[in-house]
Amino acid sequence: MSRWTDFLQSSTEYEKGVEDFLNKAFATWGIGDQISCLCKACVLRFWHRRDKVFNHLIANGIESGSVD
Ligand SMILES: [Zn+2]
Repeated sequence: MSRWTDFLQSSTEYEKGVEDFLNKAFATWGIGDQISCLCKACVLRFWHRRDKVFNHLIANGIESGSVD
């Protein structure tokens, strides 16, 4: 069984995985409309709004190990 992070960042599966992940992430550690970005460029150092984090995760990929 493959994880959504195994799919190409340009794939629908990956995009759906990002959506699901952000839903859970915002419910868990999001503050207001912002969350620490888990993309490979930010790696939790920066906080952004959801649409920006979404774009980062698609463009930069997600830091592996941050998703179970
Ligand atoms: Zn980022």
